[in-house]
Amino acid sequence: MATRADDISNWQIVGHDWAVHALARGLAADRVAHAYLFTGTHGIGKTTLARALAQALECTGANRPCGECAACQKIARNRHPDVQIIDGVPVGYKFDDKTLPPPRLNESERRILKIDQIRAVQHDVSRAPFEGRWRIILLRRFEEANEEAANAFLKTLEEPPSHTRLILTARDASLLLPTIASRCQVMALRPLSLAQVEAALIERWRVEPATARLLAHLSGGRLGWAVRASSDSTRLDARRAYLDALNAALIEGRAERLARAGDLAKETDALPELLEQWIGWWRDVLLVQNGESARVANVDREENLREHAARFRLDEAQGALKALRATSRYLTQNVNTRLAMEVLLLNLPGS
Ligand SMILES: [Zn+2]
Repeated sequence: MATRADDISNWQIVGHDWAVHALARGLAADRVAHAYLFTGTHGIGKTTLARALAQALECTGANRPCGECAACQKIARNRHPDVQIIDGVPVGYKFDDKTLPPPRLNESERRILKIDQIRAVQHDVSRAPFEGRWRIILLRRFEEANEEAANAFLKTLEEPPSHTRLILTARDASLLLPTIASRCQVMALRPLSLAQVEAALIERWRVEPATARLLAHLSGGRLGWAVRASSDSTRLDARRAYLDALNAALIEGRAERLARAGDLAKETDALPELLEQWIGWWRDVLLVQNGESARVANVDREENLREHAARFRLDEAQGALKALRATSRYLTQNVNTRLAMEVLLLNLPGS
C-alpha cells in the first residue's frame, strides 16, 4: 500500500528523488537524524533541499512540508526565528554584533567559517525554540570552516541538545574532518539530467525554451546554477565575451597573444570562470571531432564548434585542453598569473 512518504510532490524539489524519499520516510517514522550533511557541486540543490527539510520539520500543516502554513512560509523567506542559515564571512572580515556579513558575490568567492560563528551557534542551540518544534541550524559550505571552527563544532555534533537539528552542506565529504562527516547522515546529491533541468526551467521558472535548452546544457545538471543564470544575464554575457576572446586569440600571432595574455591576467577574479568556459569549449571541439556532436554543451554555437573541429587537428584540441587544465591548476598555487596566461595563450593552436 502506498504510504504518505511515497508521495513527495509536496516537497517541491526537482530531482534528487531518492534523497527526498529517504527524508520523507525518516520523518514519517519519526526517525530524523540529529545532523545531515548534503554534498554536491555548487548550484546542485543542497540549500534548497536543506530548506525543504527545515520546512518539513517545522511545518504545522497536514502534509509536511505543506508550503502554506506560517512556518513553511517564514522558512521560505529566511524569516523563521528558529531556523538559521550560517555562511562563511569574507577573508579579513571583522565581526560586530549589529551588522550581518555581506552576501556572497559569486560562487567562486572564497570565504571562511570562523570560530566566532560556531560559538554563536552553540549559544543559540543551547536555548529552547521560540515558536517551532526544533532549532534548526543550516551551515553552508562547511568545507570553508577553519580547523579551529571545525574542532569547536565537533562538540556540538557529539552532544546536540535534543531540540536541535543540524544540516551541513559541502562540495564533498572528503573536504571535512572525518570525525565531522561520520557524525552526520551523508546524502551525496548528483547532477540532474539535462532534460530535467530544461523542463523545470520552462515549466516552473517560465524560461523561454531556447534559453532553457542552452542553460540546461551549460549547467551540467546543476539546476540552481541554471535558475540563477536565467535571471542574471551577466553570466551568459560573460560567457559570450570569453568565447569571443578565445575565437579572436586563435587567429592571432605571437605578439598579439602575449598582449592579450597580459590583459587577461589583470582580471584575476574572472579567470577561473574564463578557463572553465574555454575547457568546456575544447571538450566540445573534441566531441565534434569524434562524431559526438549530440553531446556538446555549447548548443548555441554549433557552427563555430564545427569550424574549429575542422580547422584544428585532434591532437591540437587535446593539447589545448591539457594546457588549460594545467593553467587552471597553476592559478590555485599562487604562480605568476601573467606568465601562466602567456604560456597558455602560446600553447593554444593556430599561432
Ligand atoms: Zn507547512
